[in-house]
Amino acid sequence: MRPFSYIRPTTAEEAVNAFADAEAGARFIAGGTTLYDLMKLNIERPTHLIDVTAIGGLATIDTSGDRLRFGALAPMSAVAADPVVAGDYPVLAEALWKAASQQLRNMATVGGNLLQRTRCMYFRNGVDGVYPCNKREPGSGCAAIGGLDRGQAVLGASGSCNAVSPGDWPVALTAMDASVEIVGPAGQRRVPIAELYRLPGDTPHIEFSLAPGELITVIEVPRETLEAGTARGSTYHKIRDRESYAFALASAAVVLEIEDDQVIRARIALGGVATRPWRATEAEAVLAGQRLTPERAIEAGRAAFRTAQPGRHNRFKLELGARTVADALLIAAERSRS
Ligand code: SF4
Repeated sequence: MRPFSYIRPTTAEEAVNAFADAEAGARFIAGGTTLYDLMKLNIERPTHLIDVTAIGGLATIDTSGDRLRFGALAPMSAVAADPVVAGDYPVLAEALWKAASQQLRNMATVGGNLLQRTRCMYFRNGVDGVYPCNKREPGSGCAAIGGLDRGQAVLGASGSCNAVSPGDWPVALTAMDASVEIVGPAGQRRVPIAELYRLPGDTPHIEFSLAPGELITVIEVPRETLEAGTARGSTYHKIRDRESYAFALASAAVVLEIEDDQVIRARIALGGVATRPWRATEAEAVLAGQRLTPERAIEAGRAAFRTAQPGRHNRFKLELGARTVADALLIAAERSRS
């Protein structure tokens, strides 16, 4: 048992100040579904826990304006069940429903879920020097490179780390061009979701573009209006070893705008295959202005993996990922017709 202090401030300002006042080792905590897990594994060793769950106004779900606004403390299950989200934005609702178990979705917050850490087995099981891991111990090496890499990334990896970004919700938000509002010691700022996640490069232990003491307060999703005659369909398609309570081997979030059977705009993001939520711009380019046929869908899926670099055991992700994208495109297209 490692001792730590615990406080529960009631405003974001108090929380940020408490973080600044603490010595190194402070952590914000909300639902705790990741942090407690990592504390039990001895990977996270906080000396101060700042519980943000008593901060007022951060669990609000507001779908009334021209932007969907989700307070960072809103439970994943509540956002998934919101009638506007479930009815008009299936890509968001499905990404939440397909994550974890109902018990975890009731506890976990939509803000905390953005900062979930990797499931790389060497990261989670290699404490106390059993396996080297640059993410856990910078400069120690990477046991996954050249090791058992079936679950590792084929996109965005570096010579220091090929761990997969584990989330579903961040992938859907990437396809929706979402952003987050952040408060911190330097004040308030807004960050596009795509910029929240860093590639591993030489510093895989720095996973997010958050400065120390910065706290995500709101997730915002643009609520774009459609041109007359244009229809939208979306989905989050997730392939895993078992149908429930498992992380993605490959997933695709797709938002399609279609007019007269032609794709006006496609937004595609990938999960389970990359070191961060991965926007598949090559696949999007294949579809622009084209009719969506099954052949075009698989062509787009393959384009998404053109720059992939598989390891020894995860080459299957290239074809699995391409087919996941293709299936998601056809599901989204079908929904745009209904
Ligand atoms: Fe650690 Fe990344 Fe290597 Fe996994 S892939 S062992 S997280 S450095």
